[in-house]
Amino acid sequence: MHEMGIIIHLAKTLDETAQEQGLTEIGSVTLQVGEVSGIVTDLFVDCWNYFKKKHPVLENSELKLETIPAVTWCDGCKTNYETVKYGKICPKCGSKETWLVQGNECIIKEIEAQ
Ligand SMILES: [Zn+2]
Repeated sequence: MHEMGIIIHLAKTLDETAQEQGLTEIGSVTLQVGEVSGIVTDLFVDCWNYFKKKHPVLENSELKLETIPAVTWCDGCKTNYETVKYGKICPKCGSKETWLVQGNECIIKEIEAQ
């Protein structure tokens, strides 16, 4: 499962961060998830709640998710447009010379100690 893989990686990173900073318990984790990252947020939270029990440092933590809107750049008319609405073809000039500027990421924005 895609979500589980990310969470295993995330939990490992958080464990390491907690150790580095001498934290015994993490209160909350804010994660920024891109709109087209392929992460199903409901599933993600379920996985998190299951998985955090295996990590003492995360046991009482809360996962907060923020969505990063997906934006595509068009090289034809040099403008950005909404990826989810229009896909890979520019709605303004019909060009296919487009690429994703943002919306595919999964970033730890903030960790709060308990
Ligand atoms: Zn265009």
